[in-house]
This record gives sequence, C-alpha cells and structure tokens, in this order.
Amino acid sequence: MTQTTHFDVIIIGGSYAGLSAGMALGRALRKVLILDSGTPCNQKTPHSHNFLTQDGETPSSIAEKARKQVLNYPTVRIHQGLAISGMKTTLGFEITTEKGEHFTSKKLIFGTGLRDIMPDIKGYSDCWGTSILHCPYCHGYEVRHQTTGILANGDVAFHYAELLSNWTQKLTIYTNGLSDFSDEQRAKLSEHQISVVEKTITELAHENNLIKAIVLSDQTQAELKALYSRPDFTQQCSIPEQLNCEMTEQGTIKIDPFQKTTVEGVFACGDCSNPMRSVSLAVASGTTVGAMVNMELVHEAF
Ligand SMILES: Cc1cc2nc3c(=O)[nH]c(=O)nc-3n(C[C@H](O)[C@H](O)[C@H](O)COP(=O)(O)OP(=O)(O)OC[C@H]3O[C@@H](n4cnc5c(N)ncnc54)[C@H](O)[C@@H]3O)c2cc1C
Repeated sequence: MTQTTHFDVIIIGGSYAGLSAGMALGRALRKVLILDSGTPCNQKTPHSHNFLTQDGETPSSIAEKARKQVLNYPTVRIHQGLAISGMKTTLGFEITTEKGEHFTSKKLIFGTGLRDIMPDIKGYSDCWGTSILHCPYCHGYEVRHQTTGILANGDVAFHYAELLSNWTQKLTIYTNGLSDFSDEQRAKLSEHQISVVEKTITELAHENNLIKAIVLSDQTQAELKALYSRPDFTQQCSIPEQLNCEMTEQGTIKIDPFQKTTVEGVFACGDCSNPMRSVSLAVASGTTVGAMVNMELVHEAF
C-alpha cells in the first residue's frame, strides 16, 4: 500500500499556468504539490511569441526556466505523473496517479490545459504548430504578407479573414465542402479579394512539416506558406468532470473572476478555463489563482 502525502494545495498541470500558481503559493509559504504529465499543448511549435522577456524562446526553455525558479521555494514539490482520478474527502481532496500514488490536499487547482483534436486530413497533424497556425498574435508576424490559407467555414472563417487581413492581403478561405456565409459576408470577402474554395481537401503537402500546398479533390494544388485553422479541443484532464465542475458551452471549466470553479475548494487557471489561449494569459491567471487560494486558506485559518 502506498503512503499518502498531504499538501495545502495540489496543482494538477505543471506548465505555464500551474507553475505560475505554484510560484505564488510557494512565495506564500504553502506546501504545494505540482503534478505534471509533460504534454503542454504548444510542444510542436518551434518558437513561442508575444510574451514579454520570452519572445522567440522555445516553449520548453520557458517551462524549464519556470520550473527552476519555482523549485527555489522549498515548500514546492514538482512530481512527474499523470493524475487519473480525484475525489472529495473530509480534509479536502485526494488525487491518484496512473502509478497508483495518492496525494491529498486542502485545495485543488487545475492548470491542465486543452488537447487539440487533429482533423482527419493527411498532413494536418505534421504541420500543426509549425505552419498550421491558430493565432496571428502568436505567429502572424513570422508569416506576414505571405500567401495564406484559412481552413474554416461560416462565422469562424469570416472572423479569421477580417483579422488576418491585418497581416496579409494574400488570403484564401478553404471551406473543405460547401461554404456557409451570409450574403453580407460574401460581399465583404469579395470586396477584399478573398476567394472561397469549396473543393474537398485531400492532402496538405509539406516538407519537414512546413506546408507547401493544399491538394484538392480534383488534384489541383494551391501553394501556401501558412494555413490558419482552429481545431476542436477537449479538456486534457477528466478529473474536473469527475468532481462535477461545471463546463462552459465552449468546453472550458467554468470559473468566476477569482478563478474559482463551481465546486468549493477547486480552482482553475490557464487554457483549461480560458479560451483566449496564450502563455502570458496562462501565467497571469496562475498568479491570480495562487493569490486567491492562499487568501482562502488564510481566511479559513485566521
Ligand atoms: C501550436 C500552438 C502554438 C502556440 N503558440 C503560442 C505562442 O507563440 N505564444 C503564446 O503566447 N501562446 C501560444 N500558444 C498558446 C499557449 O501554448 C497556451 O495558452 C499555454 O500553453 C497554456 O498554458 P497552460 O499551462 O494552461 O496549459 P498547457 O501548456 O497546455 O499545459 C497543461 C499541462 O497540464 C498537464 N496535465 C494535463 N492533464 C494532466 C493530468 N491529468 N495529470 C498531470 N498533468 C496533467 C500537461 O502535461 C501539461 O504539462 C500556442 C498553442 C498551440 C497549441
């Protein structure tokens, strides 16, 4: 039988959001366990952008530096492992890992991120994160003024087209089937010379994960330097649902302005609870959650 270790706070997810929460709590003298399975969503991108002091760094070097700084606080422990189940106890929460380890805490924080679901298009997952991009603020500058595709339909495609026209005029929308735009949207797209291609996509041709062309069902090809796409996503971790945390319509964990979920004692930060995905926002929400959880612990003990 494995021994259970008790903490003030368990943070599941030790990437940018979870580590940031860990730093705030370590600086507040809290005994903290950060459990991490090592699968951040941005691991395929070669460089991370738009975060002051870290612009252009590799995702792993930002995380590694963060881990080192968090471990300067002796009450924080980082443990490699996948949390697979969680339950409420009289003292707070008990978390079990894949290896059968048990940990308990008074409070629980999820910084578990999201998992992007790769569509079933040949070449898509190879290019994801390198030349299939989801966010122009993260990667738009690097492909500015380049021939760019948008793989989307309807309102999402229209929104992308409007936004991306700030970075490039060489835009085409690929709807991968019949398009679904209002007359007004069609008129706007045409006014800005943004064409819409409805042919089915058979392949995304690439060299070393850098997209070269979209291959269409009639075997014609359109050359491209970048393709924007927002794949569906799911929560990386199922424990918030096991604990009955309410979800938003978009599929993120529902939180209040203090990062509290709908379950007492459970908090969330980063992508798992915020659809505006960025490293800096994940770090900011981790700082907030650390302060909020500490305040709750102080309040309960005072
Ligand atoms: C391809 C791509 C490129 C991006 N580029 C940029 C960019 O240039 N600039 C930018 O600002 N943002 C970028 N982003 C967004 C940014 O990466 C995310 O907003 C950020 O990683 C969110 O941090 P997070 O800590 O919330 O989640 P993540 O970084 O996704 O980390 C979640 C962590 O939780 C752990 N975890 C999950 N479940 C469990 C479990 N059950 N047990 C233990 N551990 C668990 C995972 O292993 C992982 O380490 C990009 C995203 C993608 C997908």
